[in-house]
Amino acid sequence: MDLGISGKRAIVCASSKGLGLGCARALAEAGVNLVMNARGEEALEAAARAIRSDFGVTVTAVAADITDPAGRDAVLGAAGATDILVTNAGGPPPGIWSDWSRDDFIRALDANMLTPIAMMQAVLPGMMERGWGRIVNITSQSVKAPIPQLGLSNSARAGLTGFVGGTSRQVAPSGVTINNLQPGIHATERADVLDSGAAKAQGISIEEARERRAAMIPARRYGTAEEFGAACAFLCSQHAGFMVGQNILLDGGAINSTM
Ligand code: NAP
Repeated sequence: MDLGISGKRAIVCASSKGLGLGCARALAEAGVNLVMNARGEEALEAAARAIRSDFGVTVTAVAADITDPAGRDAVLGAAGATDILVTNAGGPPPGIWSDWSRDDFIRALDANMLTPIAMMQAVLPGMMERGWGRIVNITSQSVKAPIPQLGLSNSARAGLTGFVGGTSRQVAPSGVTINNLQPGIHATERADVLDSGAAKAQGISIEEARERRAAMIPARRYGTAEEFGAACAFLCSQHAGFMVGQNILLDGGAINSTM
């Protein structure tokens, strides 16, 4: 299917690895020129080089912390007029409700709520003026079914989801869509970190921890960054213009709900 977005310009935040990289690669395959971002320069440059060589699109790599205002300015400055924005950042650490201080909450809110909101506020005026735009926020299945040990993530992503619910309806008349993709368990470094923690807590190997988690998913496996990226590229396509303010689960059926 031709996604109809060849030649458009996208910012994909936190995209040297994992789900962000999956989104960047799928957009590049559709002919979209990219500004990619991550803190670690080496992995970011390697990912950018591979995309240029595989898909022949223009890729600008900006090594910066997207949760830092100066980092966001660097990314936005490199991008200029932006047609597509994918927001993403690392997820907060696990724990229990009594672990987290005000500072921990502020860090999580900054990374997973206020940073995507600031990025949206920066690109929305231009998108609305030009009458076309696509924004996809990478959130989490925890918005639909909170994960007890990820209380920081549950809190921040619920706030972002509320903002998108209202804002997406305000900008839709200008041809701009905002939707959230909610990953369930995907095979990325983030999943490795969570599996290592579970293995340590339960006194089992990481492979066993992985098998136990996969067994709880109806698809009986973790998702891939490629599958995730393809869904993201569709949401950014010409064909998705009537999808507004949706929260779309990609979880192999893990959350047993019709809502
Ligand atoms: P990942 O494999 O750890 O990759 C994270 C990417 O983001 C890396 O490229 C990392 O590069 C970059 N990054 C992290 N913090 C950043 C920052 N402050 N500024 C700029 N770049 C940053 O993680 P993932 O699995 O793709 O997860 C992406 C998001 O989805 C996370 O918020 C995660 O909590 C959420 N999620 C993931 C899963 C899953 O199963 N994988 C499930 C639900 C939700 P640098 O470290 O070099 O900056």
